[in-house]
Amino acid sequence: MKALVIVDIQNDFLPGGSLSVDFGDEIIDLINGIQSRYNIVVATQDWHPLDHQSFASNHVDGVVFTTTLVNGIDQVLWPDHCVQGSYGAELSSKLKQHHIQAVFRKGMDIRVDSYSGFFDNGRLRSTGLDGFLKEQGVREVHICGLAADFCVFYTAMDALELGYKTAIVSKGTKPIDKDMYRNKKELFIQQGGTFV
Ligand SMILES: [Zn+2]
Repeated sequence: MKALVIVDIQNDFLPGGSLSVDFGDEIIDLINGIQSRYNIVVATQDWHPLDHQSFASNHVDGVVFTTTLVNGIDQVLWPDHCVQGSYGAELSSKLKQHHIQAVFRKGMDIRVDSYSGFFDNGRLRSTGLDGFLKEQGVREVHICGLAADFCVFYTAMDALELGYKTAIVSKGTKPIDKDMYRNKKELFIQQGGTFV
């Protein structure tokens, strides 16, 4: 069984959003087109409370896109994004959802960010995605969505560690920072990941 994991295709990560990824909207048609090729399609959704510690606005003198230590973990401080119930947190209306069996929300614990669709960054809690996929007999996962150098990369790395044959859909993702993504791609390949 093969699954497609669609990561965070949410309004705030698309052009016009508060944490937009350049050309992020250009991957949606491709993602819509490939969904029917998979036995199982799931999505993840960044879903933060307003007082989430990943927001620069919740730190005294917090500066966006700088890194600080939050509860012992390096944390990039982001602009407010994907606030629970807001328009920015909604999955894009351009994303076809009729193949999506389940949406796994992440980033709800104010103390810790959650880039991966499987675990928070401190590995304190699982989203249930691994159990869902394993129960359905999934052995191979393909990951697409936003952003390539953060949530897609960390979801893919966790998938490898959890024993899935794992690939990133090259044309189904866009990075925030191209150079950072280049380095992370190498790390992913070293761990046994591939690209489709
Ligand atoms: Zn977030």
